Amino acid sequence: MSNEIGLLPTVIEVARIVDITPRMRRITFAGHGVEVYASDPTRVPNIKLVFPRPNGELDLPDNDGTGRLRWPDPTVKQFVRTYTVRRLDPVAAEMDIDFVKHGDEGLASGWAEHARPGDRIGAAGGGGVVAPASDWYLIVGDETALPAIGRMLERLPEGARGVAVIEVADEHEHQELTSPADIEIRWVHRDGAPAGTTDGLLDAACAVAVPEGDVKRFAWVSAESRTVRAMRTWLRADGRFDRRSTLVIGYWHIGMSETGYGRSSDHDRVDDEHDDELS
Ligand SMILES: Cc1cc2nc3c(=O)[nH]c(=O)nc-3n(C[C@H](O)[C@H](O)[C@H](O)COP(=O)(O)OP(=O)(O)OC[C@H]3O[C@@H](n4cnc5c(N)ncnc54)[C@H](O)[C@@H]3O)c2cc1C
Repeated sequence: MSNEIGLLPTVIEVARIVDITPRMRRITFAGHGVEVYASDPTRVPNIKLVFPRPNGELDLPDNDGTGRLRWPDPTVKQFVRTYTVRRLDPVAAEMDIDFVKHGDEGLASGWAEHARPGDRIGAAGGGGVVAPASDWYLIVGDETALPAIGRMLERLPEGARGVAVIEVADEHEHQELTSPADIEIRWVHRDGAPAGTTDGLLDAACAVAVPEGDVKRFAWVSAESRTVRAMRTWLRADGRFDRRSTLVIGYWHIGMSETGYGRSSDHDRVDDEHDDELS
């Protein structure tokens, strides 16, 4: 649970922008707002970003003092999106967030497309869990999950093993990923098909040989809704993973804004799995 200071929303300012691959834009935020955000280390890996209304106004929630955000006006929630803090450096007061460039139809994607140094947005909430210590990991995600996967790999325990299956548009979207653990990276390409319309990630993930017997294993899955639902069924089948050893969260839903997806199915979360805190 975040503490009172940690729940204070803050305004963060764009310092640098770089396209790390053709479809992935890294925006570095810096300055006092990042310092405030970083003052509560429990606020990573997820972050709630609040974008300005079309008229340029930025409405931030406040802290109701009980561990939840209070929204001054419920319509503000439609300007909030969940992202991953790819890198947070409290000393330099810098924070990197990687945005998939999926076009102007998305509020966040469109904002990132046109962002300039000096632009400001809100940062609130945050939280989420890190993968628990295990012997073997199955990590599955599309490019929206790539920042979380990159971050997670860097923090896995030395000596652990596993496989990460990652879907991207094509080979130009590969990123250099490092880990103290021994994780085999398998890239899956859509080769021209739109995101969220193919089964390549699911097929490649289901082809992974999961170790049997007395091996402490953990499965982490985040992608478009249809894939995560199908993955959950596969993870449960034949006792591959017990529920508490999985974290399965839909990161987006084709044809829905994040606001609509959260409202309709709470990101496809189910009870009694290892839980991620999204709100
Ligand atoms: C815990 C968590 C962490 C996340 N971390 C990241 C992250 O670090 N980087 C990142 O880029 N995303 C991340 N996402 C996913 C991101 O929140 C969604 O993709 C979100 O919908 C993007 O908001 P938007 O305003 O751009 O689009 P929205 O306004 O939400 O949606 C508009 C339209 O765009 C479509 N759409 C949304 N995302 C995509 C996509 N990736 N490709 C194609 N079409 C899409 C929707 O289906 C909808 O039709 C994360 C999600 C969660 C739950």
